[in-house]
Amino acid sequence: MSKKVRVRFAPSPTGALHLGGVRTVLYNYLFAKHHGGEFILRIEDTDQSRYVPGAEQYIYDCLKWCGLEPDESPTHGGPYAPYRQSERKPMYLQYAQKLVDEGNAYYAFDTAEELEQMRNGHGQYDAKKRGSMRNSLSLSAEEVAALKEQGVPYVVRIKMPENETLYLEDMVRGELSFNTSLVDDKVLLKADGMPTYHLAVVVDDYLMKITHAFRGEEWLPSAPVHILLWKYLGWEQDMPLWAHLPLILKPDGNGKLSKRDGDRLGFPVFPLGWTDPKTNDYSAGYKEIGFLPQAFVNMLAVLGWNDGSEQEIFTLDELVQKFQIDRVHTTGAKFDFEKAKWFNTQWIMHTDVTVLAEMAVPFLKEKGVTANAEYLAKVITLIKDRCHLLTDVYTQGAFFFTTPETIDESAIKDKWNEVKQTFFKQWMEGFTALATWDVATLEQNFNDAVAAAGIKKGEVMLPLRVMLVGGKHGPGVFQIAELLGQEETVKRINNALVVL
Ligand code: GLU
Repeated sequence: MSKKVRVRFAPSPTGALHLGGVRTVLYNYLFAKHHGGEFILRIEDTDQSRYVPGAEQYIYDCLKWCGLEPDESPTHGGPYAPYRQSERKPMYLQYAQKLVDEGNAYYAFDTAEELEQMRNGHGQYDAKKRGSMRNSLSLSAEEVAALKEQGVPYVVRIKMPENETLYLEDMVRGELSFNTSLVDDKVLLKADGMPTYHLAVVVDDYLMKITHAFRGEEWLPSAPVHILLWKYLGWEQDMPLWAHLPLILKPDGNGKLSKRDGDRLGFPVFPLGWTDPKTNDYSAGYKEIGFLPQAFVNMLAVLGWNDGSEQEIFTLDELVQKFQIDRVHTTGAKFDFEKAKWFNTQWIMHTDVTVLAEMAVPFLKEKGVTANAEYLAKVITLIKDRCHLLTDVYTQGAFFFTTPETIDESAIKDKWNEVKQTFFKQWMEGFTALATWDVATLEQNFNDAVAAAGIKKGEVMLPLRVMLVGGKHGPGVFQIAELLGQEETVKRINNALVVL
């Protein structure tokens, strides 16, 4: 590749960024970084009727959480600023004008009612219909001038050719063809002078020197409009190479994964928590349910791509090294939440405990737990192989932070007797004299006490666990005792002996 690679993610801030959108970001980012290129974030906010407050900030927050920072964006700036299309409004008019002047676009004066009427007759605004509508092709030059003079609102529409075939070499799908008659004469410039997505995306990809454009496959039907605009504006040589990415599908493969599917099946479809400003409904994201951003990114990367090997766990650096756009699958990927959690489990397993400890702090705080970093790291060392989500640090390890209020007496009461009661009292006396408080010393001391009392170790191990943990779960019981410390261990055994 001779030109410097420049790719863009060009979201419209019309709601929370869905995980499919994040995957589009990711593939753009990986491709750019793989080729030593630049990743641009451009906010496509020209459809102001669909603008949702907070949606733009949400995009920045998600990209930051995922570690996919753009090189150029409305907040990072860059040589092609502004990167927010609404702020570029005056730039587009000249291109719309050129298209009209050269006969590739036209003015249309139709009212909303006239358009409605046409559509009710099952028509689309195209070569067949445009002659009977009110536009600069059907009206005389004088009529057009008069309408403009009177201030009648008008839009600019592309003049789609009739029954021509356009070809596109898609980097994922190979050669695609489109019949121009299937597409209507899209509006390019609205009555208020604001461009629509179709004009703005082409002008900006050109002006921002975008070399590759990757976007969701839902944009395929618009491709012929864009191909023609590149051609009509005389920029064909500079048209980016396209890739239309397959959808992320519902778990049963039946259509695109939606927020409703997530709500119904009990998993998030957003990276971060989002409050819908219209309904005030809050949806937790992957971050809030306890995903590591690395796991989230890894999971998305392989949802529709592989490197040709069996490898599934990749760091972002490895993905950058290995990513190839032509290895993106052509068919949609079914979303599997259990598999997503598997990625998180793997990442928890392989992430340094001090890093995990830092990540776990907000989750513990939510439960009213504050723990010192060193202690927390030790807890996580013991329980990390039982954690699938960062929230599990609390569910699996709560007893390390607070003394259990009750213990599961039913687990031991049946077989409880005086001998055991006496054993625990004596053992406690024994271990208070210990100079060191570590797993090996404790276990040895316990074994000696068991031998001296003439009872079976198996009979007192479960009671000891229940006394310390409150239930039958948890890591090695002497590891628990070591970490709780002598004072807390004595306290818990004493509390239990009172109720047993
Ligand atoms: N603004 C479009 C969107 O909201 C971008 C499509 C493209 O990347 O061309 O997804």
